[in-house]
Amino acid sequence: MTLSFQVLGDAGKDNALLVTIDRGQAISRLLFDCGEGCLSRLPFAEIQAIDHLLFSHFHMDHVAGFDSFFRCVYGRTDRSNHVWGPAGTSDILHHRFQGFLWNLVAGMQAAWHVHDLYLGRLASHRFELAEAFAQAHVEEERSWVRIFLEGPGYTVESLLMDHGTPSVAYIVRETPRINVDSAKLATLGLRPGPWLQRVRGTRADEAEVIVVEGAPRSVRELQDALVRVKPGDAVAYLTDFRLDSGATDRLAEALLGVGTVVCESQYRHADEELAVRNYHMTTTQAAKLARRARVGRLVLFHLSDRYRAEEWRAMLAEAQAIFPATTFPDHWAAC
Ligand SMILES: [Zn+2]
Ligand SMILES: [Zn+2]
Repeated sequence: MTLSFQVLGDAGKDNALLVTIDRGQAISRLLFDCGEGCLSRLPFAEIQAIDHLLFSHFHMDHVAGFDSFFRCVYGRTDRSNHVWGPAGTSDILHHRFQGFLWNLVAGMQAAWHVHDLYLGRLASHRFELAEAFAQAHVEEERSWVRIFLEGPGYTVESLLMDHGTPSVAYIVRETPRINVDSAKLATLGLRPGPWLQRVRGTRADEAEVIVVEGAPRSVRELQDALVRVKPGDAVAYLTDFRLDSGATDRLAEALLGVGTVVCESQYRHADEELAVRNYHMTTTQAAKLARRARVGRLVLFHLSDRYRAEEWRAMLAEAQAIFPATTFPDHWAAC
């Protein structure tokens, strides 16, 4: 498996999600939110290798651990530094960057690119360590529809949800793997060669022809005969928004083909009124969404601290009654 994930933080405490995409030549790490203490069990080297930090929103329990992250990586120049989030992300990050004294950094070249996701467009700003992060330099502004980030072997999609403030739901998908059916190749009497590069590439039109072992061949026919597309795995990160019928409809469609949904369950079913009032979800709402979207597995996290440990098992059972393939994160085994 090339896509893996790790929920960070304990039950009833701040949580975050680390997603790793390992494509052999390149390993990418995406951190979703950064609550207090979430990074405490991650090795320093792994924190330093986080490529993108993506916030759902900026309530304290999602950003309280940012200083720990930033302390590890603020001067990083071996990769580009990106932070993503809803409208207002650049303003809030600008304040965070300036929350420290930076008098000994002249000549350090690190730059931070901060991206605000608005409906249908994103606006980016660059902040320079050598300037003590004083200026927000305007970078690109571009439109986006669902997919806003493409990395080596993966894409990230988002939907803006309603938490009384925009809260971003994220879906990470591995890009499909294109394989050549070697048994079929043999039955056609062909040997592998550089020509397979084209066959594995973009879909050809009917007229396109390549020469294979001295004879012209239709690329389209070769693609139909030889190419096998293996869909990639996907994981969704859903937290802190109201799951009303409109939101459920949008997500059920967006989650098509997603293997694992990591979803908050702030409230028990009995406290649904509180969930609606506070723009959060219940265990049963999360489970109904997973069932409707036909995902493979639901992982519940981000439980309200109003519940005691004895109630956590009951919360899990509420969700499992609707969607049996529901678990807590693996390291919450004691729950
Ligand atoms: Zn919140
Ligand atoms: Zn929260």
